[in-house]
Amino acid sequence: MEAESHQTFRSLSENVGAFRLKDKTFLIPQMNRIGGLLLAGAFRGFGVNAVLMDTYEGLDLGKAFTSGKECFPCQVTTGDILLFLKKEKERLGKDFDPDRYIYFMPEAEGPCRFGMYNKYQRIVLDSFPELERLKIGSLTSKNSYALDGMFDEEQTREFRKVGYFSVVVADVLDRLLWRVRPYEKQKGHADQFIERAAHTMADAFERYGSSKDFERILDKLAEIFREGKKVIDPGIPQKPLVGIVGEIYLRTHVQANQDVIRLLEKHGAEVVNASIAEWVNYTTYDRMREAKISLRLSLKQLRVSRIRDSLKRIFSYGVDLSYQHYRQDQVYKRVKPLLDLAEDHRIHQMDRILEEKKIYSFDVGTEACLSIPGILEYVRQGYNGVVNVYPFTCMPSTITSSIIRPIMNQKKVPYLDTPYDGSFQPGREAAVRTFMYQAQQHFKRHGRNGSP
Ligand code: SF4
Repeated sequence: MEAESHQTFRSLSENVGAFRLKDKTFLIPQMNRIGGLLLAGAFRGFGVNAVLMDTYEGLDLGKAFTSGKECFPCQVTTGDILLFLKKEKERLGKDFDPDRYIYFMPEAEGPCRFGMYNKYQRIVLDSFPELERLKIGSLTSKNSYALDGMFDEEQTREFRKVGYFSVVVADVLDRLLWRVRPYEKQKGHADQFIERAAHTMADAFERYGSSKDFERILDKLAEIFREGKKVIDPGIPQKPLVGIVGEIYLRTHVQANQDVIRLLEKHGAEVVNASIAEWVNYTTYDRMREAKISLRLSLKQLRVSRIRDSLKRIFSYGVDLSYQHYRQDQVYKRVKPLLDLAEDHRIHQMDRILEEKKIYSFDVGTEACLSIPGILEYVRQGYNGVVNVYPFTCMPSTITSSIIRPIMNQKKVPYLDTPYDGSFQPGREAAVRTFMYQAQQHFKRHGRNGSP
């Protein structure tokens, strides 16, 4: 027994971490499809053989290798990797070599369970003797998803910039889809158009990413926006605007959330989902915030080396955050004159809202830091309703729900919780329909920006 547990602990430290990607096949799980395609394109541009794995088809396998107590995204991603490897083994037969792959599963610090997915999946993979040598490539929010160790030092810095840019461009493409689909001239046209656009942009990242030719990438994006505008039928009147917040995986994974955006659209909404870049910015902001707290403490204690270290960290994360804002603004500035698109919330503003209202704190952490003030921002901007999308039993989203519900009642803005665990709830569509009826009423009374 002891030997086995030693074995397990060794595997958790030796086979989960930042590994060199050179000459490996890098397996990227699908969260939001466009983001995955663009990120894989960016990796390929840097010479990494990155593959975006299919998703959700392996859910039965995921459920077979979990106990049911894990978070739903853990079950989905466990199924994705197991099914992919099963198919690879069938395809390659005796040439299958687990050493050739690195499976990408990042993590976040507590207090919730995202930090445990890759450890749990390591244990599952180790239960198949032939998969013990397959490494799990992990990045952590602890250092704001630095890529140290995966590339050469120089390439690491460059890829981080391009990778972040791909995240913002993917956000904007998603927003383009949600902006045009409720008003499309021809049913199905928006989906087809966006699928083609995602591949075009993935190619652009593969071709221009490593030379950091962001202008060429933006030119392609602008072309797509000009085309996308033509999908809209200008005769269709404006619809109520619904904002989405929640757990990052569920709110962006179309199959896992049973395509909740399409369901809302079916009942008359135009939807804006919180972005992925928001989470990346949050992790950078939070590291800087921690360094500031540590600086204050070190000053009180007069610990010179710690003061120096804190200052260095504040400077480094500050530079990263400014860079991220600069690139994000650059993308939105390029596309907004072509089509009005919702912009992202700034993290320091979210922090300030929580400070002022005293309803939650960045000290506690998790996605509730973004969801709670994100909802309040939607309300301030005149959205007609908000939906919180999350895995059943998700801790941060349950906290969000308990804090925000009474506030939304007070503000008389429609609000809906939609937890998912892979099962189909018979009342789900009725709940969405009722919510949309309320959003329509709100829209009639207040319009979309507070003025009817
Ligand atoms: S955010 Fe929710 S679903 Fe994700 S790991 Fe934490 S508790 Fe689980």
